[in-house]
Amino acid sequence: MKLPYLEYAAPADVTEALGLLGELQDEASVLAGGQSLIPLLALRLARPALLIDINGLRELSRLSLTDGWLAIGAMTREYVAEESLAVAESVPLLAAALPLIGHEAIRSRGTIGGSLAHADPAAELPAVALALDAEFVVRSRDGDRIIPAVEWFDGYLATSRRPDELLVEVRFPTARPGTGVAFLEVARRHGDFAIVGLAASLTLTGGQITDARLAFAGVSDIPVRAAEAENLLVGERPSRNLFEEAAVRATARLNPPADLHGSAEYRKKVAATLVRRGLQAAADNADERS
Ligand SMILES: Cc1cc2nc3c(=O)[nH]c(=O)nc-3n(C[C@H](O)[C@H](O)[C@H](O)COP(=O)(O)OP(=O)(O)OC[C@H]3O[C@@H](n4cnc5c(N)ncnc54)[C@H](O)[C@@H]3O)c2cc1C
Repeated sequence: MKLPYLEYAAPADVTEALGLLGELQDEASVLAGGQSLIPLLALRLARPALLIDINGLRELSRLSLTDGWLAIGAMTREYVAEESLAVAESVPLLAAALPLIGHEAIRSRGTIGGSLAHADPAAELPAVALALDAEFVVRSRDGDRIIPAVEWFDGYLATSRRPDELLVEVRFPTARPGTGVAFLEVARRHGDFAIVGLAASLTLTGGQITDARLAFAGVSDIPVRAAEAENLLVGERPSRNLFEEAAVRATARLNPPADLHGSAEYRKKVAATLVRRGLQAAADNADERS
């Protein structure tokens, strides 16, 4: 399918990109890896007047570790993050999710910022960002804003980024010692978007759970955090019964969508199974890491 007619700009730096975005606002689309945007253009589901190609902006591909945060530039390719030792050691939940995104060819072009700006509710990275309380740094001609993950996802394929803002960086808190993680999902085929996915993280101190994080992909129009289950887990020791109860609490209020891939009821059952398995895997993994 051919793309519609549109203007194209490849700004030399972020300032030039922000100038264009400020001028054209939602008449412009930012082109990152193009893995989601190009199909949207081909299908005429997006009709911008101008494409602002940020692939040349090297300043947006930096990875840095400071004061308990791993900052990842928006243009960091998914495969670069997947192969990064800094990511594996400091944000293991992100490292666990990255290999599940599509296929290698997609991850070699797709970017961390692109996935999170696209905000597909079935995608892996939005669930990870929500589970970990990541922070989104957006920039406009007026300066920077930091948006917490809980405020970032604003509906189906929608975020709280303003049209004149560029996502420049995403910051993930680094894992505390004793943290175990798992990213589990059910998809029809390897590389497909998840029917349901789960990001799970447990921190154990002296055998007791001191921090618990659970977030689902694929059960709503935005990623969903399971706060009630998290509260149940903190202060307890890992056990099969505890994880059973957490699965009940995590899924009690879910009202997942139904589509060709599965009914709402099926998704709810899968979600509960993923919680039980994800918590067990995270607990085992925490034991190994501590
Ligand atoms: C066959 C196939 C299978 C896939 N499977 C999966 C999967 O299983 N899981 C998954 O998570 N993803 C999957 N993807 C999507 C892939 O991860 C994309 O890379 C990702 O969703 C978008 O990243 P991108 O860099 O390609 O962004 P683009 O496609 O370039 O952009 C996506 C959107 O984000 C906006 N945007 C991008 N960067 C910025 C920025 N810095 N600031 C502001 N706005 C920005 C764009 O304007 C556009 O609206 C799949 C894609 C394909 C083609």
